[in-house]
Amino acid sequence: MFNVGFSYPGISQQGQANQGQGAQNQNAQNSQQAKWQEAKQKRYNEVYQHELAHKNAAGSLGGNIVIEQDSNGWAYGGHVNITIPGLNTENPEETREQALTVIKSAMAPSDPSGQDYKVAGEGRALLAAANEQIEKNKTVGNKLDISA
Ligand SMILES: [Zn+2]
Repeated sequence: MFNVGFSYPGISQQGQANQGQGAQNQNAQNSQQAKWQEAKQKRYNEVYQHELAHKNAAGSLGGNIVIEQDSNGWAYGGHVNITIPGLNTENPEETREQALTVIKSAMAPSDPSGQDYKVAGEGRALLAAANEQIEKNKTVGNKLDISA
């Protein structure tokens, strides 16, 4: 069992260059400030929505949403940890459900990151292992029935 984080692709601080550039008059500065605040809020919401999509789909496997912000309050990334369980050979059906949840959660945002695709891949590998185990258990069951 291990935790992996969904991370939002880092976008460098757009808009920051505008900050404090022209100290023309107070009005211009105020409107620049307002634009910066707006961009900052928009960016934060983008990151938050992305992470929220992961979290909602992850159910009990998901951790808390963490938004990373720099000292200017610019959200440069975020993550939600998800627990990928190991294969439960006694109950591969349960593992199968969990693997499906991992895949669904990884692909939940409309803009999955490279890391999200990676996590989905791990979910698929677990799903394959669970399916294999389900077949294996069936065979063992049949053999036991025959010898009984
Ligand atoms: Zn993501």
